[in-house]
Amino acid sequence: MSRTDYVIDELISAKAIAARVESLAREISTYFADTDKLVVVGLLRGSFIFIADLVRELDLPVEVDFLEVSSYGNATESSREVRILKDLRGEIEGRDILVVEDIVDTGHTLRHVLDILATRHPRRVEVCALLDKPSRREVDVRARWIGFEIPDKFVVGYGIDYAQRNRNLPHIGAVRFIEKPTA
Ligand code: 5GP
Ligand code: MG
Ligand code: MG
Repeated sequence: MSRTDYVIDELISAKAIAARVESLAREISTYFADTDKLVVVGLLRGSFIFIADLVRELDLPVEVDFLEVSSYGNATESSREVRILKDLRGEIEGRDILVVEDIVDTGHTLRHVLDILATRHPRRVEVCALLDKPSRREVDVRARWIGFEIPDKFVVGYGIDYAQRNRNLPHIGAVRFIEKPTA
């Protein structure tokens, strides 16, 4: 008998993340320099650490809000709809929005989120994603700012989970499954 276990191989160090967050924040601050008060929208739960670090480096007045959407299950077919689990608290009509996402993978989640936000008539919506897996894209959606492009690996850490674990890892690692004999 054996059970499946896993190890985590470091992919991006905490130091590299911190340096990248700083440079992203500089670019974003310049881009939104003429904005009254930017609404930073974090997509729960994976972006919570990224957004916390990013907003502290922004040289801008910001408001912080959160949106949580359901991810489509494996079994659910082509439409790949997402549902709002937790909506924004604030109105966004006429506002400048920065959506902060952990990973853009197939792109379906981000596409739906942008469609939902567009129905509320914000002035401008841009996206900052910590990680991008361009090789996995199924719909044409792009983040204006990307922290790191990564290969098609399942990653955890820095807010990102595997079965609700490993969000508290300070770095980003790739999950590697191993067969382990049981006692
Ligand atoms: P998409 O809709 O672009 O396929 O997927 C978006 C969401 O799937 C991401 O925001 C993230 O929550 C989840 N996801 C995609 N790749 C990974 C990964 O490597 N690890 C984890 N934990 N979640 C992922
Ligand atoms: Mg996500
Ligand atoms: Mg998840």
